[in-house]
Amino acid sequence: MNNNWNLDDIVTLKDFDSLMATTKTQITQFDDYFAKMNPQMSDSDFVAFTKHHEICLEGIHRLGSRPALMEAADQKDSLANKLKNQVKDLEIYFGEKIQPISLWLKGKEVAGKDVLDDTNAQRLFAANPDLEYVYNYSRLMGRYSLDEKSENIITAKDSNGTQIITDLRDMIETEFEFDFNPKGGKRQKITNNAEISSYAYSANPAEREAAFKARFEQYEKNIDKFFVAYQAIVKDWGYETKTRGFDSAISMRNTANHIDDQTISTLIDVCSKNVGVFQSYFKFKAKQLGKPQLTRFDLYAPIGEANTSYSYQDAIELVDAAFRSFSPTFADNAKTIIAQNHIDSHPADTKRGGAFCMTVAPSVTPYVLLNFAGKMRDVSTLAHELGHGVHSIYANGHGISAQHATLPLAETASTFGEMILFEKILSETKDNETKKQLLSDKMADSYATICRQNFIVKFEIQAHEALQKGIEQKDLSQMWLDNLKQQFGDSVEVDDMFRYEWSYIPHIIHTPFYCYSYNFGELLSMALYAKYKSEGESFVPSIENILRAGGSEDPKKVLESVGIDMSSAEFWQGSFELLANWQKELEEL
Ligand SMILES: [Zn+2]
Repeated sequence: MNNNWNLDDIVTLKDFDSLMATTKTQITQFDDYFAKMNPQMSDSDFVAFTKHHEICLEGIHRLGSRPALMEAADQKDSLANKLKNQVKDLEIYFGEKIQPISLWLKGKEVAGKDVLDDTNAQRLFAANPDLEYVYNYSRLMGRYSLDEKSENIITAKDSNGTQIITDLRDMIETEFEFDFNPKGGKRQKITNNAEISSYAYSANPAEREAAFKARFEQYEKNIDKFFVAYQAIVKDWGYETKTRGFDSAISMRNTANHIDDQTISTLIDVCSKNVGVFQSYFKFKAKQLGKPQLTRFDLYAPIGEANTSYSYQDAIELVDAAFRSFSPTFADNAKTIIAQNHIDSHPADTKRGGAFCMTVAPSVTPYVLLNFAGKMRDVSTLAHELGHGVHSIYANGHGISAQHATLPLAETASTFGEMILFEKILSETKDNETKKQLLSDKMADSYATICRQNFIVKFEIQAHEALQKGIEQKDLSQMWLDNLKQQFGDSVEVDDMFRYEWSYIPHIIHTPFYCYSYNFGELLSMALYAKYKSEGESFVPSIENILRAGGSEDPKKVLESVGIDMSSAEFWQGSFELLANWQKELEEL
């Protein structure tokens, strides 16, 4: 069974042009709304503007997502490409029309207008309670924005400067030819980064080691180029944080993520203190693989042979049963996505890889793209992406700007969904060998999303400080090697070639400090899940309230309303207890 999604619920191809025309007219009408804007304007005039703005956004989202999803399902779709370019022009037009309005709302000086003071801003924003947080937050961000001219220069500098540096870095990387030469195996040239990475999961130790060797050989050869690129990005980031008035390099990312600095430093501390649970796992794994000590090459090696495979239909039923055991509404929301045929399920030649969920607008059921291949991991991915969709449906009572959860809460339903599924499958598995594989894979995955990401961010904090002062490539590479030794302790032997690994991590150059988003989201949902396990059904409404809030409220307040303080170390510790229990179960098998 191969499901292709039905994209007509976004906009049909027949209606595409007329929606373009209507949306363009609506965008032009911003001029009339702007003419009426002044600090003393009435609440109702402001509410009328916010509603009109939401309508325009919906038009743009529908127009933008139709070709984007067509292209995701078929990267050679030339119609998708044509439509995408038409929409780009409309988006630019939208940007031009909305810019003076958004500057004015942020309290900036705009020609011909009195500045919008704080008191009147609060009065106006409160007039539309659903969007009050969104507007207040954007005004807060305005505190860090510069005058119009400087902002335009930064935008141009980013697209003609820093963007080009990262593009060049990526071009060097895509040209890599990996010389894959496993002991006792067949030597071959591999040109695809994803393919060489997949050997990290190979059951054959010679293939795992050869894959890393082949990879780092290329990075080592180009290490000075990667260093120059990274140095430029870090210096630019540092200059911008200072110019905008942020306290530290990471602070610019935190503010954009709706999280305060204190919460992030607590998160980093708790994660660092809990490396022991993963180190125990690696020691256990070494024993399973019959080795005195694990090497860095063996981190993702499978234990035994996993041969359970699932049909797509089985996967859907498993996920439904798991979701239903938690909450009927949660399960029904997922069912809506399936029933409306909003999933593109199986791999195809020109389809993009991976998986994602896209929310278009509150009035449109979300879309999910998968590359389902029948493995346990694919079933988890189904639960994860459906979880995102379920979250959006819970929050579809809000306007388009307030539907999508802010970063701290964006992974709540997705990770939660995965967790319920995992524990259900685990409890129903009778065979100890399979159980061991499931738990071992879960620990390895958790290491990758939690511990590894935490240490990447720790490295970035250190690297940004050092690069501002000026260091050489060899110092930076040594810094990364020391960082690895810190996280593995004596549980894993790290080969010297891993000193070049930092240059292989795309996030640190494309989106500095982004990596904590992974462990933040994962640990937050795990902590919620731990609470659900200890409090049982009475905690279900609290979780559903978190999901219903979407992005309409400060994440800190959303969590406080259900009795959670995200800046407290105890809350985060809950998720590590869950991990420690899995590890204990694993050792007892
Ligand atoms: Zn996700």
